[in-house]
Order: sequence, then C-alpha cells, then structure tokens
Amino acid sequence: MNLSEARTALQKARRVAVLTGAGVSAESGIPTFRDAQTGHWARFRPEDLASPEAYRRDPETVWQWYAGRYADVTRAQPNEAHRLLARLERAKGEGFFLATQNVDGLHQRAGSQRLVELHGNLTHARCETCGTVAPLPAPDDFTPPPICPVCAARMRPHIVWFGEYLPERALEAATRAFQEADVALIVGTSAVVYPAAGLAFETLRKGGVVIEVNPEETDLTPYMSFGVRDVASRGLAALHI
Ligand code: NAD
Ligand code: ZN
Repeated sequence: MNLSEARTALQKARRVAVLTGAGVSAESGIPTFRDAQTGHWARFRPEDLASPEAYRRDPETVWQWYAGRYADVTRAQPNEAHRLLARLERAKGEGFFLATQNVDGLHQRAGSQRLVELHGNLTHARCETCGTVAPLPAPDDFTPPPICPVCAARMRPHIVWFGEYLPERALEAATRAFQEADVALIVGTSAVVYPAAGLAFETLRKGGVVIEVNPEETDLTPYMSFGVRDVASRGLAALHI
C-alpha cells in the first residue's frame, strides 16, 4: 500500500480505531519513556516507582514523582496530532474509537471524547479503600497524598502500574473496536508494551488496514499495511486527516 492508497482507505473507512502512545505527546514537550531516561525525571527510574511494591515501600516518594509529572502535564498543551485525532473523531462519529496508553489527559483537552485510557490518568487519584476515583486539585493547591472525599482514606495515583491488570472493560471495548475497524492507526508507540501489538493484530486478522505513524521503526513495522515515518503531527497531516 502507498501513501495515496492509505489516504483513500482512511477516507473511505466507516470504522476507524486508533492506538496512541507517548510519541503523540512528545511534541507537547512530555518525555517519552526513553526520553525520560535522559530528561529531568532521569533520577527516578519508573520501574522502581511505578509498582504496587514501590508504593507500599515508599508512598511519599511515589506520590512526589506523580505529583511532579501531574504538574508537568498540566502546564503542557495538546499539539496538532491531538487536534487532528479529535477532528477525525468528528468526521467518523460513532465509527471512531481511540485507545491511549498515555496518562497525560491531552487527548481529552484537545476534544477527544470517544476514548479509553488503558493506563489510567495522572490527573486523577483512586481511593485505596473504597475505589472512588476523583480529580486532583490544581497542582499549586495539591499536597500529596490526596484523601478520599467519600471515606477519608488515603488515595493512590489512578495509574496502571507494572504488574497490574489493565481496566477490563476499556480493554474489551478497544479489542472490539480494533476487530471491527476498517482502518487502524498506531501512532507514537514503541509497541513493546502490551496491548499495543495485540490490538493491531486484531484488525489485521479481520482483513483491515493498519497504518503506523512513528519516526522510527518498531517491532510492529514489518506487519503494517503502511507506515508513515514522521512525527505524529506531520504524519497524521500527511494522511489528510
Ligand atoms: P514509548 O516511550 O515506549 O515509545 C514512544 C514511541 O514514540 C517510540 O516508538 C518513538 O519512536 C515514538 N516517537 C517519539 N517521538 C515521536 C513523535 N514526535 N511522534 C510520533 N512518535 C514519536 O511509549 P509507549 O509505547 O507509549 O509506552 C510507554 C509507557 O509509558 C506507556 O505505557 C505509557 O503509559 C507510559 N508513558 C506515558 C506518557 C504520557 O502519558 N505522555 C509518557 C511516557 C510514558
Ligand atoms: Zn474512599
């Protein structure tokens, strides 16, 4: 498939499923997993902090890290890639579905509504006792840990940590959307973290078209119907979204 055929497939598609990863927010200045190993979060290793064991051992440090990342994403702005995906949603209506691995909330701020967050959200906390999910106060007013508005117990970050299950209903909805998709887009994800690869194959198995947008090749690249080797904003624009 060439670029012109990819554009046509996307334009004609009644059902479109999109998976996004950290690369979509890179142009908003939010470090990807790899960038974070050199940037100002480098002194924290996610594998040491983003786990239930780490939180049990040292909740203050874990909350300090999440509160800092929450402040960072609050300052960041959605970029053209987020806006183009919100526009694609308006064009496709009920035939559109977005699954994001990002936890920064930028898709919503760009206007996306038909989306699921597979890994949770930095902007919310969840009660450790009763499960209530609530938004965090503005970063300047926030001193962790947050206290549950319902039962006054301590709340934890509303994030899927290493070793935890993805939210079942969100994953089911995503799987269904990728099975039904005429065209799937895989944007800015290294596709090594489950379920990225799995979702792309749901579409391929049903005979759908899968298009990757990523400046670099990934483990999924050999299986793609077409790949746009560019950053998310230009790559999506090239598809005439
Ligand atoms: P990743 O960091 O593993 O991979 C990022 C991918 O984006 C790479 O393949 C890279 O080539 C590509 N990329 C870099 N710049 C890009 C750009 N401008 N446009 C398009 N693509 C670009 O990210 P992942 O696959 O999402 O997995 C990392 C995990 O870490 C996820 O589970 C996610 O929850 C979490 N995370 C989230 C955020 C966020 O919410 N913004 C940021 C970092 C990590
Ligand atoms: Zn509670």
